[in-house]
Amino acid sequence: MLPQPSRRRISPRRLAALASVSALTLALCTSAGNGRLSPGAFAPGAGPSALSRTSAHGPCMIGGNRSVQMSEGIPTAPGYTRSTGTVRALTLMVDFSDAPGEGDALDRYREFFPQTREWFATSSYGRLDYRPEIPVPDWLRMPKSFRAYGIERGAPFDPGYRELVRDIVAEADPEVDFQDYDLLNVLVTPNAGPAALDTVLSVTFAGNKEAPTADGVPVANASFVYSRQDDGSGSYDRTGYRVLPHENGHVFGLPDLYTAEGGGAVGHWDIMSEDWGANNDFLAWHKWKLGWLDASQVGCAAGRGTREYVLTPLALAGGPKLVFLPLDAHSGYALELRTRAGNDEAVCRPGVLVYRVDANVDTGMGPVTVFDSRRDSGGCTRAPNVHAELSDATFASGESFEDREAGIRVTVLAAEERSYRVRVTRASAAP
Ligand SMILES: [Zn+2]
Repeated sequence: MLPQPSRRRISPRRLAALASVSALTLALCTSAGNGRLSPGAFAPGAGPSALSRTSAHGPCMIGGNRSVQMSEGIPTAPGYTRSTGTVRALTLMVDFSDAPGEGDALDRYREFFPQTREWFATSSYGRLDYRPEIPVPDWLRMPKSFRAYGIERGAPFDPGYRELVRDIVAEADPEVDFQDYDLLNVLVTPNAGPAALDTVLSVTFAGNKEAPTADGVPVANASFVYSRQDDGSGSYDRTGYRVLPHENGHVFGLPDLYTAEGGGAVGHWDIMSEDWGANNDFLAWHKWKLGWLDASQVGCAAGRGTREYVLTPLALAGGPKLVFLPLDAHSGYALELRTRAGNDEAVCRPGVLVYRVDANVDTGMGPVTVFDSRRDSGGCTRAPNVHAELSDATFASGESFEDREAGIRVTVLAAEERSYRVRVTRASAAP
């Protein structure tokens, strides 16, 4: 039996806040982390071959138990799309008889590219060469009407959804060799289905072992984007594409970081939490998990005593990026330096971000929790429709984070534009 896909849930409070903005449509997404999948076929797996670590990093490579569908654990389970090197993204623009594509299909493509490719190039420091390819540069008409698939009611594994995937494969197959690609993007004509605020449609099948096969390979990692992610702030042209890097984050094995309460666990510090509005990069933890950091860029603070570490801005290439303090075999604290640069152009309070990662907490259930250095401040961002409170969560020079129970203290010693120094004290070594 298939596990239940985790879905993006919106709290009534958050919905009310969103609904108060006129003309707001916000595309949200469902993550369909479908348990473990057929490794190797459509996707060789993100983690094990790409991840850079040494034996000293062992205690920091926390893992989740098998019941977790999509885990923050390192390495990433097999079956997802490889996240380093050249990745070929088969990108299809799909329409229906009752929702015919308006205008040129390439205009739909241009809503997401080259922005998505550039976003990944920047975030990965050039390690992910993401190549969108459009062997069918026109609308791919589905044999049934949109209404007939029942997608507006559907969960990803509903019969109608499976039928849609099968039909996409069948219609594209004469012109596409699916063996050539590492992942599939389906850009649905934006006039298909209800407004995104009413019904959440964008979805990713990540490592789906029930996927239909094409040219002998299962289409196991596929992102579907519906509607337009316009948060009403006037930034759609610059930021509307980010639903796709979020959905693609799932095909690389990353879980959703928002929870039933919305973006309150991580705020705007990772695109897997909120993917609209003001810009946001991946957490350093995700960059390590994706194979975008060298071992030398990750400090594993597992031993007892006091040590100092240097952190350089996460958004800029080179230098140390992540310090991790394991608490046990499945969780720990992460430290990183967030400044306004690269994909982090909207950071309003530079400083050291402190968060807890738990590989036993599943997608959408809060696997990452950011600690707020300024609780109940209201935050520093002016961007609309984002979780504001955590936007000033970072720790500045002279400030400390403490977990007395765990015997852990982190102090930011010195802050310069290009590097911060932090002191980490542990009363006991990681077990
Ligand atoms: Zn998601």
